[in-house]
Amino acid sequence: MKQNSEKFHPMIDKRTFKVKNPSLCFYCPLCRMERQTRYRPHLSKLNYWQIGAISGVLMLLTFERMQGHAFIWPFVTWSIFEGVRRALFKREIPCPHCGFDASWYKRDVREAKRLVSQFWQNKLPDQVPLPEDKLRLAAEKISRPQ
Ligand SMILES: [Zn+2]
Repeated sequence: MKQNSEKFHPMIDKRTFKVKNPSLCFYCPLCRMERQTRYRPHLSKLNYWQIGAISGVLMLLTFERMQGHAFIWPFVTWSIFEGVRRALFKREIPCPHCGFDASWYKRDVREAKRLVSQFWQNKLPDQVPLPEDKLRLAAEKISRPQ
């Protein structure tokens, strides 16, 4: 595994970021380093119990005033839980080693590529250029008459 990551870039950080009680373990498709996430994109059984308890309390507190409209609280609570859960998961997707974001890669490959190069520019502003930068510089040298 180490040899593969060294093929990608010599400056890649080879230390793995350990997560307490990981829910997902996988390898980054770009740098092939081991990754772990704390959150899953979907709600757990405990979350559904929490949604039920919170919406039950809210329904009890607001039933006098809202009458039948108080039954909207489970759906509001559920949507809030889903949104927070997905936001927490999405925050963990970008690779801390190489900056690869699988969610952007699924939507727009060019944007994912731009994010990786921006990650490396932020991490190493004036050090070893990326392999693709080396290739582009070589192509510019060839195309320029000297
Ligand atoms: Zn990576």
